[in-house]
Amino acid sequence: MNIEEIEKLIIEIELDKIMAKREIENRKQRRKNNEKNKSKNIKKITFNVLIYLLVTNTLFTKYIDNNSNYFKDNKIVASKDDVKKAIDTIEEKLNVEVDSKNIDDYLVLKAILDNQNLREFEKNIALELYPLLEENKYYNKELTYHALKNIKVKWCDRPKDVEDNCYGVYKWKYELTKGYAGKIEDYESLGKEKQSNFSVLRHELIHSLFADKNYILPKVFREAVTELLTNEYYSENSYDELMTYPFDILYVKMLCEIVNSDIVLEAYTTGNMDIIYEAMAKNYGTKEEAAVQIAMIELYLSEYRVPELFDEVFDQLDNYLPQEKKEDLNNPYYAYKWLMSSLKEEDPYSEYWEKIESHGTPHVAYFSKNLKQKTMK
Ligand SMILES: [Zn+2]
Repeated sequence: MNIEEIEKLIIEIELDKIMAKREIENRKQRRKNNEKNKSKNIKKITFNVLIYLLVTNTLFTKYIDNNSNYFKDNKIVASKDDVKKAIDTIEEKLNVEVDSKNIDDYLVLKAILDNQNLREFEKNIALELYPLLEENKYYNKELTYHALKNIKVKWCDRPKDVEDNCYGVYKWKYELTKGYAGKIEDYESLGKEKQSNFSVLRHELIHSLFADKNYILPKVFREAVTELLTNEYYSENSYDELMTYPFDILYVKMLCEIVNSDIVLEAYTTGNMDIIYEAMAKNYGTKEEAAVQIAMIELYLSEYRVPELFDEVFDQLDNYLPQEKKEDLNNPYYAYKWLMSSLKEEDPYSEYWEKIESHGTPHVAYFSKNLKQKTMK
């Protein structure tokens, strides 16, 4: 597949998406206009809608258990009494003092305490998600509460058809996290090595936090931001990704240099890539061109890691770097690109590991407040 063909494919996918979106809008309108014709309209699902659903993985029903949710969107809807009771429980169980300005985020956390599916050690890991919530002003509290209250974790051996380097999976449809570390009954009895498997659980739990919007994101972007968040908030080695999605993470870091990490976080949390394209277009070209540029990288990293295409795909991206950064060759962007260029070699991973060993990754934190402070010191 050459670059023109890839471009054509991307444009076709994009067109399908746009047409499907339009079709969905039309269907919504029609349903509003004529409830009686509902069943008729549903039968009119076009091929494009199907493509859209397949592309975006949206073939599932969302259940909102309003009865026991403290939130409607981001507003607390529980009674004052209920909120007080919940906060008392949280303070007691977590041994914290809940500040009035953080009540919302702690209330979301209460879902973990109430989750009947999680065992104690899983709850403890889930509770560590707190700073991620507190530092993210874009997440939808109602949906995150719902997700945390219902998520299940299953530990099993890795199925035969799953690749060796895959340690877990998040099933959007079932709000289920699977960890491939064999059967695990409790955390404490595990050796250090096995405990490290729990970074996978953290990664999958982060998916669940934003599950309602996360699944519509381009896959490479979604996985890379999830893993980068896991690294920044929970890894002892926050900067150098050795195993999981290293190249995808480099791409997201490059994007953070191009449009800034807050925009990346907003897009990730709200499922809206448009704001990234818009921000890119402020530096270079049009929003549509930016979308194609991102789609090319997605395709390149997920399917066609063709060495000969590397320069074509990634040199283009340089155009989007803000002018003042473009001229500063010490900008981390260039270091990321250099590490990324391992993809041009026959054995990209060995090449990458060698580079990491000799130079490491720039110590720049993009999301975690704590890590940002540490980095500044
Ligand atoms: Zn993932």
